[in-house]
Amino acid sequence: MSSNNTELRLCSGCRLTTAAPSHCPRCGTVLHKRQPRSLETSMALLLTAFIFLFPANALPITQTINQGVNTYDTIYSGTLSLIDAGMPGIATIVFVASVLVPISKIVGLAVILGTIKLRLPLSRRQLTTAFHVIEFIGRWSMLDLFVISIMVSVINMGQLLYALPAPAATYFALVILFTQMAAQRLDTRLLWDLEKEQDDH
Ligand SMILES: [Zn+2]
Repeated sequence: MSSNNTELRLCSGCRLTTAAPSHCPRCGTVLHKRQPRSLETSMALLLTAFIFLFPANALPITQTINQGVNTYDTIYSGTLSLIDAGMPGIATIVFVASVLVPISKIVGLAVILGTIKLRLPLSRRQLTTAFHVIEFIGRWSMLDLFVISIMVSVINMGQLLYALPAPAATYFALVILFTQMAAQRLDTRLLWDLEKEQDDH
């Protein structure tokens, strides 16, 4: 590609668009064509989020105390208790927000990262749209934790028990945090670099 020499870059320091090869002529910031080590960092963060999914789902999410007896609920047993207690609507919200959405976000990002890494012939345009959806959901991520607090208060009201968030709540927060950081570190232009390479051939 001969056009590489005239390619414009955006300075991350002062937002100047420049054709300078290495340093911004206005503020001196080092220029990068793409975010450095974007793919590797994003993959590492996403893997961490994936690992935290296991304790988040396996450990208790709420602890209820009834006459000195501790009862622990995981996200699944908690969801089932809500259905048993005649609250299928809240059970659905808890399941979608705490299980379905975080897992879909991780799977979606994994497909995007896998496409860049393995040069899969998937639609770049659809993947970019998927990325924007994941980013958008990320802004509402605290919903997941909000839902956990709803679950705790519902248990409190329904059974007049004393309920507390248990360790899994922390892991759920970490899953959300690392997924969001993985999305933030991903330079989606890498997807379109592939497209250009494929067009060139
Ligand atoms: Zn600059």
